[in-house]
Amino acid sequence: MPEGPSILFLRNKLQRFKGKTVSEASGYGEMDKSKIENIKLEDIDAFGKNLLFVFKDFFIAVHLGLFGSMLVNKRKKVNASFALHFAESEINFYVAKTKFYQGKPDDYFNFKTDILKPEFDADFVLNELQTKHSEQMIGDVLMDQNLFTGVGNIIRIEALYHAKIHPDSMINVIPEKKLIFLIKMVVEYSQEFLELLKTDKVKESATIYGKKTCPKDKTELVIEEMGKVKRKTYVCEKCQKLYK
Ligand SMILES: [Zn+2]
Repeated sequence: MPEGPSILFLRNKLQRFKGKTVSEASGYGEMDKSKIENIKLEDIDAFGKNLLFVFKDFFIAVHLGLFGSMLVNKRKKVNASFALHFAESEINFYVAKTKFYQGKPDDYFNFKTDILKPEFDADFVLNELQTKHSEQMIGDVLMDQNLFTGVGNIIRIEALYHAKIHPDSMINVIPEKKLIFLIKMVVEYSQEFLELLKTDKVKESATIYGKKTCPKDKTELVIEEMGKVKRKTYVCEKCQKLYK
């Protein structure tokens, strides 16, 4: 599944469409597309794993889910689930989920939690962690899109490794300064991820994701589905402390 940086990468690629007129929208998706006709595309933004096409009074959120993809001025043999047509170009989405929202993105989304937005507020996230999620495991909460918007499995695994925290650690037992450091690692690694996308080197540059041993002490990594999220997790039990 694409993580926040992959969506921001797509958004950055689409900036040339900003200000252009959408002649029509198509696709087999059930969302009502009748308002998207001869209308100016005011902005293209991203919120976590959603790509946002912003028009004057409404916007469309596109989520690629597990199998979605996007093509510009190219088509697959199968029908697009959603497509925006311009005078001389088109953006096609395959197996993507779309949602129509009346109003502006900040009427609905809290940009303070988006790990890649300038509005990201580490103090807000820390407070939420300690007050509303204190009895949960950190490895689960990192996947919560309302709190760590844009984090996916690679970011989760790499950030926990860099912060030296075991994913099964209980939040109320992790020292506050470790939590602060973890949040910092999430943001820093997400920015690195965005850079690595330019040369398509995310997976090969990962420290433990997709690897078999810890690069530091050569210990064999524990690789299994962990926590309530049941996502494939990589852990070095020597480097990552379990707070219980
Ligand atoms: Zn290690």
